[in-house]
Amino acid sequence: MGLMAWIKRVAGLSKDKKLTCAECSASFFFEEGEQKFFTERGLSEPKRCPTCRKNTRRNRGPRRH
Ligand SMILES: [Zn+2]
Repeated sequence: MGLMAWIKRVAGLSKDKKLTCAECSASFFFEEGEQKFFTERGLSEPKRCPTCRKNTRRNRGPRRH
């Protein structure tokens, strides 16, 4: 994340959406650009943080604790 994006986010100017991961309960940002991508394709918001999404892709299944 660039410094400007971070400043915008902290100042509340960013349209990034703060979401909570359904898998590890970590907070993550659904970035403005990503929101557009998802909306254009009629997809719903991601339920998992980028880390879990990556892990899922690698492990081919949900990770259990
Ligand atoms: Zn997660």
